[in-house]
Formats: sequence, structure tokens, C-alpha cells
Amino acid sequence: TSRFFQFKLVLLGESAVGKSSLVLRFVKDQFEEFRESTIGAAFLTQTISLDDQTTIKFEIWDTAGQERYKSLAPMYYRNAQAAVVVYDITQSASLDKAKSWVKELQRQASDSIIIALAGNKADLNESRAVPTQEAAAYAKEAGLLFFETSAKSNENVSELFEAIARKLPLD
Ligand code: GDP
Ligand code: MG
Repeated sequence: TSRFFQFKLVLLGESAVGKSSLVLRFVKDQFEEFRESTIGAAFLTQTISLDDQTTIKFEIWDTAGQERYKSLAPMYYRNAQAAVVVYDITQSASLDKAKSWVKELQRQASDSIIIALAGNKADLNESRAVPTQEAAAYAKEAGLLFFETSAKSNENVSELFEAIARKLPLD
């Protein structure tokens, strides 16, 4: 018997941390060095198989990070079963912003939402500003999945989405 599940996932995080790039890598296995920034939000889907019997379709809302769109975010996370909160490992302020998104999700989103923290641009390790251990400790304390990713080098991108899928209620 085969099983099919569909889940809504939202990406949140400061502008330019690589939210759209992570989605583009996951959905189309592409990367663009100069990506136009997202206006409002973009909707994409990707289907993965977890095992021979289990297929998961992600309905992905890629939100714009800019302050002027902030009031729209609840529309996207309200019905989401999963959220990826992204920061840029070369910008410590982007981790602070990620933490404030996590707080907002923990207060306002569904109680059962699965939240993953993604430290993106892991390929820029020589410009790293956020130590892995610092973010990992925060993620553990806040109960989040945690991955350092690179949309550019394709590090941990499918692993991130697969880990989320494995935490979703499959029954
Ligand atoms: P968003 O505003 O969070 O959606 O960020 P974008 O996906 O538009 O990316 C912002 C910029 O960062 C673009 O120039 C991307 O090419 C670049 N970028 C995104 N992900 C990575 C990554 O993993 N590594 C590097 N080096 N650059 C990235
Ligand atoms: Mg974007």
C-alpha cells in the first residue's frame, strides 16, 4: 500500500539570507548568483519519496523578508505544518532575526508546527560570523531541527526537507 501526504511549509527569515535560493535548489536543483528578491510571497511545490511507500508533497510558501511585508507573514504560517527559519552564517544579526521569527511562530502558529532552523551560506565558511555550536545550542534549547545549508553548493538542502518530513505526523 502506498501513502501520500501533503503539507504546507513556510520559509521565514531576514531578506537576502537565501530563502528563495533554498527553495529553488530544493524544487529545481538550480542556483542563481543574482536572484531577484521576492515580492510578497511565492508558491512552489515539491514531492519527495520518504521510502518505497511514502510520498510527501510540500506546498511551499516562500515569503519576502522585508519589514514592509512583515504583517503578511501570519497569513502564510497560520495554516503551515512546518516552517524553515533561515539565517545567514556570515551575518549574526540574521540569527537574531531568526530567533524573533521562532518566538512569533511559537506564540502564534499551530502548536504542532515543526520548526527547522537553517544556517544558510555554509559555503562561505571563511566569512563565518555565527559559530555552529552557538546556533546548535540555541536550536536544541528551542526544540528546533537544525542544519547548516548551502543553496549554492547544495549542502544539506534535501536533508533539511527530509528531516522535516520525518517529523511530520504520518498516519
Ligand atoms: P532571500 O531574500 O532570503 O530569498 O534570499 P535570496 O535567495 O534572494 O538570496 C540572496 C542572495 O544570496 C543572492 O545573491 C543569492 O545568490 C545568495 N545566496 C543564497 N544562498 C546562498 C548560499 O548558500 N551561498 C552563497 N554563497 N550565496 C547564497
Ligand atoms: Mg526571497
